[in-house]
Amino acid sequence: MSADVKIRGILFDKDGTLLDYDESWLPVNRELARIAAEGDADLADRLLAACGMDPATGHIVPDSLLAAGNTRQIAEGLVAAGSRVDVVELTIKLDTLFSNASEFSVPVTDLAAFFGRLHRRGFKLGIASSDNERSIRRTAERFGISGYVDYIAGYDSGFGSKPEPGMVLGFCAATGLAPEEVAMVGDNNHDLHMGRNARTGLTIAVLTGTGSRESLSGAADHVFDDITEIEALLPDLQPA
Ligand SMILES: [Mg+2]
Repeated sequence: MSADVKIRGILFDKDGTLLDYDESWLPVNRELARIAAEGDADLADRLLAACGMDPATGHIVPDSLLAAGNTRQIAEGLVAAGSRVDVVELTIKLDTLFSNASEFSVPVTDLAAFFGRLHRRGFKLGIASSDNERSIRRTAERFGISGYVDYIAGYDSGFGSKPEPGMVLGFCAATGLAPEEVAMVGDNNHDLHMGRNARTGLTIAVLTGTGSRESLSGAADHVFDDITEIEALLPDLQPA
């Protein structure tokens, strides 16, 4: 980021960034595998392992399908790994599962307070997720941040998939910001590479998801334990 350009907008990934990945998604991943395996428990375990989750420990491989894929990509991966459900039917079932799961998701902090503080300091705020847009909107409403968010994009919103730059460029179009005025925040390399591909001013990785300091530091300007640490950067980021 050049010295005279300030950050005016922050685009957040959702899962593993705003929502604690393990608490929110491990039970959903098990249900996803049960659906794809049509009740066959052994097949369900094999499907989980093939898509990046250890069925015994729950550990998620960084940047695996379950960590970073959108619904269609996950459905395709499940079928490639042995699910006998049709890809289109499975995508629809998983999108429904994910939308319902937003009712049980666990945030990493008090999101209404956090987004409220950023909003009052003048930042444009957005959410860009590989989940479907309906799930993202339900999450934003449930945690009281809809009024602070200027932009929401899911994999089905027409801006393309991570790590393509489209969701960032959509945020810029919605807010009038240039990419170099945007900070991209996420828990996966897909998020950080999307930021880099769009030439955002800053990429920030957080460790509340499926990535590790080791897996994320290559494409991140900062690696933080969670999103609340971003506030410590604000005096340096903010427009004068
Ligand atoms: Mg994520």
